[in-house]
Amino acid sequence: MGEHIEGEPDLHAADFLDKIGLSAHALITPDGNIIHCREDYETAWHAKGFNKDSLGIEFLVPGIHTYGSFMERIKTPYITDEQLKAGLWQIKVWVERYNINNIKRHSELSPGRKFDPGDGFDMNLFIQET
Ligand SMILES: [Zn+2]
Repeated sequence: MGEHIEGEPDLHAADFLDKIGLSAHALITPDGNIIHCREDYETAWHAKGFNKDSLGIEFLVPGIHTYGSFMERIKTPYITDEQLKAGLWQIKVWVERYNINNIKRHSELSPGRKFDPGDGFDMNLFIQET
């Protein structure tokens, strides 16, 4: 494993998250792949105060972003059709398997600290479809 610095084009999302002390159970790539970073029963570090009893999913935003450009990008729709399909599939699996009835955005769990998934993410659709 080579040394990576933030913003390097070959930096993989899962590695990057680990490097900054974060993780999620699943990352959904724009081409519709699901990257499982943790087993469901393992704790992932994605939502302070809720890590122990929640499953975390992240929808990757294409491109290389600074914090500022990322914040700007998530204001308008960014989820691809393939990503939507894969993400809905994963969430439905979890909802059925664990009888989940509470799906929250990171921005709802950490108001003022986390801002994803942003206005560009159609949360109502995820609530309705799962
Ligand atoms: Zn998030």
